[in-house]
Amino acid sequence: MATIDRSNSESLFKKSNTYFPGGVNSPVRAFKSVEGAPIFMKKGDGCHIWDEDGNKFIDFCCSWGPLILGHNNKKVYDGIVGALQNGASFGTPTVLENQLGELILSRNPFIDKIRFVSSGTEAVMSALRMARGFTGRKKVLKFEGCYHGHVDSMLVKAGSGLVTFGESSSAGVPEEYANETLVLPLNDIEALKECFKKYKNEIACAIIEPIPANNGLLLQDKSFLLALREICTEFGVLLFFDEVISGFRVGFNGAAELYGITPDIITYGKIIGGGLPVGAYGAKKEIMAMISPEGPVYQAGTLSGNPVAMAAGIAQLTECAKDGFYEDQEARTKFFVDRVNTYAKDKDYNFELVTIGSIFWISFDGKKSIQKADQINSDMSQFSKLFSALLDRGVYLGPSGYEVGFISQAHTKEYLEEAAKIFCESLDVVFDLSKVHLTF
Ligand SMILES: *Cc1c(COP(=O)(O)O)cnc(C)c1O
Repeated sequence: MATIDRSNSESLFKKSNTYFPGGVNSPVRAFKSVEGAPIFMKKGDGCHIWDEDGNKFIDFCCSWGPLILGHNNKKVYDGIVGALQNGASFGTPTVLENQLGELILSRNPFIDKIRFVSSGTEAVMSALRMARGFTGRKKVLKFEGCYHGHVDSMLVKAGSGLVTFGESSSAGVPEEYANETLVLPLNDIEALKECFKKYKNEIACAIIEPIPANNGLLLQDKSFLLALREICTEFGVLLFFDEVISGFRVGFNGAAELYGITPDIITYGKIIGGGLPVGAYGAKKEIMAMISPEGPVYQAGTLSGNPVAMAAGIAQLTECAKDGFYEDQEARTKFFVDRVNTYAKDKDYNFELVTIGSIFWISFDGKKSIQKADQINSDMSQFSKLFSALLDRGVYLGPSGYEVGFISQAHTKEYLEEAAKIFCESLDVVFDLSKVHLTF
């Protein structure tokens, strides 16, 4: 293959390294786990993106999930421009907040009230405070392999030995904070029971990605989620579904609706803002009554409920709420995933796309149902090869094998067919290379 010119991206990255730590404003963008310099993107339209060197890609990153309608969607664009014509921000209530609030709450049986913030991390951080304020308890329970943003108390991994006290996974998080977080393996009812027996009256909430999608795609047994619901109810622990990825993705009301399980607190992000920075948390009204100025739990934001961001969210969620939207998303995703998986199976490649809704994850582990973080093969060299082969052929994935891919409304069958072909070709490259590797 002719070498592809990425010289503009390369020189921009050199420059950005003089401005930002690691050259980026969010770590995964630095391409640390794949080859080469990060690609600087210039524009997007539909399911395509173009980089600063003029290379074109079919995009499966979709800004890490928010762009469920694709890039530069006309309705979202019009919503943003329409709102902007009236000014970018007021720091007062606006009618747009009411409209997005109503759009969500009128369809959502799980929460009575919602508060808008500016990121998923902020939503989680605020809702954890609310859970502690409401229950008067200190500890929170999380699950290994779930990501909840860069909140101090969530940057915690399982400790060693029998105790389930967390160990901080980031410098700068005091041990004392990490100690208030309990960490359990996913999909393990026994561990759950054990932990609740020990800490029952100390746990404010159990936070989980009901569809863990930030560390592979660790689809949980519904029976596990049901057991979690039950034990939380039994011990007065709030069940907290972090649906920043799954919300408005696997269905308008996320995983709660998909599994038919009612959590006590839900956080949203990503899709909710139509590509602009919005997060939200919601709960029943008794719990939300804790939040300032109604209640004693303080939480605020200069740009919370920003009108331009609200307008983007309204435009996007209005499309998502239409009949058949999610069925159509899922059908196109299945079309793509089936093509690639059938090819890989025929060729006997140890590879599989794991999928739910319009999410897919690339698994080189040959195990269909990985459900726990420690079951993922940490050797990501095959992913790195696949990533490069795809990139050279015009398909862009998030640059890490732990991240999932997203399919948007703009990924039509025609483009998915093209992408599937490129995937199959790229798999040949990966597995033929591995063979050569074995021979020598
Ligand atoms: C993305 C994500 C977050 C963090 O959201 P940011 O907007 O990046 O702060 C939190 N929880 C889950 C489940 C996420 O997927």
